[in-house]
Amino acid sequence: MSFGISGVALVTGAGSGIGRDAAISFAAEGAIAVAFADIDLAAAQQSADKSVEYATNPAYCPLAIEVDVTDLESVERMVAQVVEIFKRIDYSVNSAGIGVREPKTVVDVSMEEFDRFYRVNVLGTMNCVKVVAGAMRHQAPLRIQGRNGERHTGRGAIVNMGSANSYMATRDIVQYTTSKHAVLGITRNAALDLASDGVRVNTICPSWVDTPMVTAAVNGNPELSPLMESVLPFKRIAQTEEISDVIIFLCSPRASYVTGSDWVVDGGMTLT
Ligand code: NAD
Repeated sequence: MSFGISGVALVTGAGSGIGRDAAISFAAEGAIAVAFADIDLAAAQQSADKSVEYATNPAYCPLAIEVDVTDLESVERMVAQVVEIFKRIDYSVNSAGIGVREPKTVVDVSMEEFDRFYRVNVLGTMNCVKVVAGAMRHQAPLRIQGRNGERHTGRGAIVNMGSANSYMATRDIVQYTTSKHAVLGITRNAALDLASDGVRVNTICPSWVDTPMVTAAVNGNPELSPLMESVLPFKRIAQTEEISDVIIFLCSPRASYVTGSDWVVDGGMTLT
């Protein structure tokens, strides 16, 4: 099944984990260009180089960009660079984020740590939505033919990275839980604000995914692996591809009537 991906993608956090796999998936699904943005430029470049192996569009062009999503000016520079080179941004995935390495109770967590999560996961998402949507709403929609005539593709699609912790709490990670609850609020309000501009905004909410973030969390807390298995109905964490496929769908014309929604891709964890 083709998702009808043909335009330009910008993915933050593309140097690692979910962002890296999602960005490479855009190349594999037919994007003409993918911008791999990360605070770690070398990692972004590595992902961009790898994507060439999977690209299916003969005109495919990857670009690695250094960005600190906590810094509005850095985000503005990133978006300006993508628009200058590729003329538009059709799909935007905000995967840059941080996870907890040293769990602490709500009493013991330092406010500096709380603020760090706020800046990367909340402010970082907000900066990217604000600046990318500002660029998207001035561009012409992509034209895609459907079975019943031209599809309503809109002017762009944004996917923000929530978590199962957008809905639930896990002991000793209040800074993460709070930040991921806030991502839902950004998505919902942005979706309402931007619907008349033809820009869709959705959140994806995974449980545990096999990425360096999870490896770091497990290394800091050896009891985590058995705990994960006990709360995951499939008894396994997700592969990055299982998250990317839903991200691609949400950005694609197949999801043209989907906005403001939360896509829980958690293997049933929040049912338990
Ligand atoms: P990861 O650590 O593998 O990748 C995160 C990337 O974000 C890294 O390349 C890092 O350099 C980049 N980054 C961090 N701070 C940045 C900043 N200020 N500016 C730009 N880039 C920055 O993590 P991951 O597991 O792929 O997680 C990606 C997103 O998915 C995060 O928002 C995370 O909270 C969310 N998430 C992950 C899981 C999971 O189990 N892995 C589950 C639910 C949600």
